[in-house]
Order: sequence, then C-alpha cells, then structure tokens
Amino acid sequence: MTKAQHFDVVVIGGGSGLTAAYYAVKDGKSVALITDRPDAIGGTCVNFGCIPTKTLIQSAEVMQTVRSAADFGITLDQSSVRVDFGRIMRDMRRARADNAAGARHWVEDAMTPFYSRVRFVGDKVLETEDGQCITGDKLFIAAGARAAVPPVDGIEQAGFWTNESVLELERQPASLIVIGGGYIGAELGYFFSALGTDVTVINGSPTLLAEDDDVRELFTREFGKQVKLVTGRAIRAQAHDQRKSVVVEDGDGRTTTVSAEHILLAAGRRPNSDRLALDQTGVDTDEKGAVQVDETLRTHHPDIYAYGDIIGQAMFKHTSSYEGELAYRNSQGAHDAVSYRSNPHAVFSHPQIGAVGLTEADCRDQGLDYATARVDYADVAKGKIIGSPPGFAKLIVERGTDRILGFHMIGPQASDLVHEVVVAMNTADGIAGLVRDSIHTHPSLPELVRAAFDAAA
Ligand SMILES: Cc1cc2nc3c(=O)[nH]c(=O)nc-3n(C[C@H](O)[C@H](O)[C@H](O)COP(=O)(O)OP(=O)(O)OC[C@H]3O[C@@H](n4cnc5c(N)ncnc54)[C@H](O)[C@@H]3O)c2cc1C
Repeated sequence: MTKAQHFDVVVIGGGSGLTAAYYAVKDGKSVALITDRPDAIGGTCVNFGCIPTKTLIQSAEVMQTVRSAADFGITLDQSSVRVDFGRIMRDMRRARADNAAGARHWVEDAMTPFYSRVRFVGDKVLETEDGQCITGDKLFIAAGARAAVPPVDGIEQAGFWTNESVLELERQPASLIVIGGGYIGAELGYFFSALGTDVTVINGSPTLLAEDDDVRELFTREFGKQVKLVTGRAIRAQAHDQRKSVVVEDGDGRTTTVSAEHILLAAGRRPNSDRLALDQTGVDTDEKGAVQVDETLRTHHPDIYAYGDIIGQAMFKHTSSYEGELAYRNSQGAHDAVSYRSNPHAVFSHPQIGAVGLTEADCRDQGLDYATARVDYADVAKGKIIGSPPGFAKLIVERGTDRILGFHMIGPQASDLVHEVVVAMNTADGIAGLVRDSIHTHPSLPELVRAAFDAAA
C-alpha cells in the first residue's frame, strides 16, 4: 500500500458532495474531492437528472402552449408544427457540458480532485483504482444512487434506456414503453408524449406517483389522456424486428403484452453503497443499501457523515444540498438535527405538482387530528383567466393548533406556488395564519394558495 495522502476533509461524490466540500474550502480546510465521473462533475442533477430533464420539459411546455393556442383565440396551422428533436437534445447537452465544465474548473481550482472509483480498505482509509491511499479527519459519503434495474426476465438482452442513456438520443422514438410510474417516468413520459411519441407507462398500481391520494388520482386521470397506462408488473421483455415487447402481469395473474420501439427504465434508484466496501470502515447500510445515519447525518463511525441519495431519504437535489451543509456543520461541532418537515418537492409533468409536508394518509397513519381544505384553479380569478385547468390546492392543518401539516398542489405553476407555504412551515410555529393573513396580489395564482388557507379557517 502506498503512503496515504491525508486531508482535513475527504468527500466521496462529485454531485452534492460539492456542498460539504464548498463549506470546507470556505473554512480554509484541505479538501480531497473524489469522483469516478470527472466528465460529469455536478453529479446526477447537473448531468442526468434535474437540469437536463427540465430543459427537455421546457420544449414540452412550449408544445403544450402551441397545442392550446386556439383556446385563447390564436389560430395556428397545427399541421405545420415540426419538432426538431435533434436540436432539442443537442442544446440540452451543450448546456449540460458547460455546467459540468464550470463545476470541474472550480473543483480543480479550490481542492484536490481524485478522478477514480474508490472503496474503503481500512478505518477511514480509501483506495483509488490505481492504488493511491487517501485518509482524512472527517469524511463525507455522497456517492448517490443509480437507476435500479427491476427483475424483468430478458430485460438485459432486450436492451433499455435509463435516465442517463436516454439523454444521448439523436432521433425521437415513434413509440416508447416506460417501466415505472414514479416522478421520473411521469416527467420523461410527458416529454416524449408532448412531442408526439406514442408512450405506454407500466406501473404496479393503478394510480401513479407517491403523492397525496387526491393528487395521485387527478394526475393519473389527466396523464392517462396523454399516455397509455398499463397496470401490473413487467415480468418479461424481448427484442424482435426492431421492436421491443414487455409482458405485464396484473394482480390476478392475467398478462398483457405491450410493444414499442424502445424501453425506458424508471423503476426507482438504488444507492451506490455496494461499491464502497463500507464494512471496512464500520459504516452500516439497511437492506436496500441506504447508508444508515443518525439525526445529525453521522454514520456509525464518529468521523464519517453521509448524505444525499445514498442515505435514501428524500432523494432530491435541494434536499441533498441542505443535508450537505448540515452534515458539514455537524462535523465541525454543531449538533443540528436534520428535519424534512418543510422539505418540498415537485413533479414537472403535466399536470405539474408541488407539495410539502405530510399527505392525508401520513396524517391518518400518525393518528393526527387534522382538517383539510381544497380549492380548484377554476375557483379563483386567475385560474379562470388561464382557462380553468384541472387542478387544485389542498391544505392539511392540525385542528386546535392551526399548524400546517401538509400542502399539495396540482396544476399550472404548482412547483413555484408551493414556496410561500414552505416559508410559513419553516417558521417556529408554522401556523396557517401566516399565509391566511398576508395580502396576495389580485388576480394571481398565489390567491389560490390563500383561498385554500381561507377555506381551512
Ligand atoms: C431523471 C432524474 C430527474 C431528477 N429531477 C430532479 C429535480 O427536478 N429536482 C430535484 O430536486 N431532484 C431531481 N432528481 C434527483 C437529484 O438529481 C438527486 O437527488 C441528486 O442529484 C442526488 O445528489 P447526490 O450527490 O446524492 O448523488 P449524485 O449527484 O449522483 O452524485 C454521486 C457522485 O458520487 C460519485 N461516486 C459514486 N460512487 C463512487 C465511488 N465508489 N468512487 C468515486 N465516486 C463515486 C459519482 O460519480 C457522482 O459524482 C432527479 C433525478 C433523476 C434521476
């Protein structure tokens, strides 16, 4: 073994790992930043997730506007509308390369990068593929997750795209099977179907997404108008004559076969903990491979922290950035507990979703005494102006205390509109009066948010 190179702080992961690294650099620490993807610094979000997919979805939204132009008195020759798929993809990849290059430049300027896959070979000792040893006073594991490949017979031989390979396409598929009705399937399924691909989404349960049940129900109904939904478990896949087929089995054992030009896997994410030999350094994982941490994001090893997708909590970029800052501060003597109470998320599909806090099912499971209020877009002036789209704002408050427990929106701009509720929930008492008693511009969509709060009073 070569002599170890020692640093104040060692970070595994060039995605949200950059957050802990950033704060360490700011504190004047020596920092080793390790990533096995030097071509993709910035991680999943910048290269294979949030930003490139939302760049694609921007084109889907433009198409949606074009298609609904007649509803607002603008007549277009719809048959003349053309999709330049190659250009949409190339523009996305160009922007992505710029972002990753900017992040790489900063890393090489501010810290010591190691471009290799690493694994633990001893207590707080990491080894690169070419045998370099790295140790540190404090270590951060932010090694992320990758697309899970579900146990579907023949799937490897049939071939499939993941969220990573699908971004390399040059040509739009005429048809596509999406395995998985979570947010990744809902977003990419929307992108392809809005641009004219014939999309079939296979999902285990008849309602899609992991959201409040009212939101899931409306989303499934509206999304089902854009794509074909097949309920059941994909059990077998096959490729034949330039097409691929998937056999789906429902709960009663009945099978259906769907076929398309290609298959996109969107069946969950599995933590990259299996590649790190964590047992060598006393860091535990659960049965799904998520690294186990306490409320301060410390693993079972006193000097090793973990955060981001690898801990399997809320797998979102904004969450891992929040966790990264908290983990770093805790490693330097703070003792702040992680809290996901006001951690929002969005689904950038059609309809769009923005949500924060507990669902009604969570409230029931936790035995909370709660009240709900729900107001439709069509019930407020701006909602009518934009065409009374299907959608609503739903508030869940605790009876007696007026504490906001959860807020769920589905419809235009839901991902933005949720934020005033996030701010209110993040205050010490987090009561609904904070939103209810604030003046909202008229006519605007935030009035819909306030209307839900009024209705719950
Ligand atoms: C299609 C898609 C769309 C998404 N959209 C959104 C969105 O709109 N909004 C949102 O908030 N979130 C979104 N997410 C989730 C978000 O991208 C992730 O939650 C976030 O990027 C996780 O960051 P991370 O640092 O934990 O992991 P990553 O960004 O994946 O970083 C992990 C890093 O660890 C490195 N690594 C792993 N193992 C090793 C090893 N053994 N040795 C060396 N290096 C290693 C990898 O190379 C990588 O640099 C999306 C995800 C996907 C897949």
